[in-house]
Amino acid sequence: MSKSYLVVGGCGFLGRYIVESLLARGEKNVHVFDIRKSFEDDRVTFHIGDIRKTEDLESACKGITTVFHTASPTHGMGYDIYYSVNVIGTERLIEACIKCGVKQLVYTSSSSVVFNGKDIVNGDETLPYVDKHIDPYNKTKELGERAVLKAKGSNLLVCALRPAGIFGPREVQGWPQFLKAAKEGKNKFMFGDGNNLCDWTYIDNVVHAHILAADNMTTNSPISGSVYFITNDEPIPF
Ligand code: NAD
Repeated sequence: MSKSYLVVGGCGFLGRYIVESLLARGEKNVHVFDIRKSFEDDRVTFHIGDIRKTEDLESACKGITTVFHTASPTHGMGYDIYYSVNVIGTERLIEACIKCGVKQLVYTSSSSVVFNGKDIVNGDETLPYVDKHIDPYNKTKELGERAVLKAKGSNLLVCALRPAGIFGPREVQGWPQFLKAAKEGKNKFMFGDGNNLCDWTYIDNVVHAHILAADNMTTNSPISGSVYFITNDEPIPF
């Protein structure tokens, strides 16, 4: 059966790279769902809508076999917006997928779902969710992930991928801000002894993980219902 792809949040940093990767391997049926349009491409069908709106989602999910869910509000917002998009929006997307007969949902989660501010060394997917998150983004990413995993058992195959920081060309929220602060002499304070480790993964590797998940998540594979941390190799000093 030929596949058709919908990248939710496809106008964002990660989502657009997933779109480009699908196009680069010759996929003919590539759709984007986003609240804004950030690029033009005649090979892509754009659905401009809000993930919190069922009617927008159902219209975009018709005829789709595989959904990548990469949408999330940008950094530094309040609990209400994170909750409405990352939790309610994700729940509505799951409902729309099930109603429209979508076969696979790959959710971009975050390693922050298991982070409570304390160092994690050599952590793996057996780590439990934390009791107390350090911010509303992390908490709502956990709730969104839980909603996705709970959908296992419906006719929808589901998995959650958990990158930490993502870097690469066109990234605007992380490294460009760090460099700007450095240039402005605003990085005068250091937490700890300078040996804190932080995991940053190159965009192509995160995209590759999403494509691998979609290509291999079949009814009999152990992927559905699973979570995976996504990383380059070794964490870097931060
Ligand atoms: P991004 O902000 O570049 O892209 C997110 C996209 O979601 C944007 O295009 C935005 O318009 C869209 N969106 C937001 N609210 C929406 C709504 N209500 N309806 C429809 N679309 C909406 O973010 P990104 O850096 O590409 O991150 C992609 C995903 O990866 C997110 O789920 C994020 O939580 C996760 N993640 C990112 C990083 C990172 O370092 N960038 C790390 C770990 C996890």
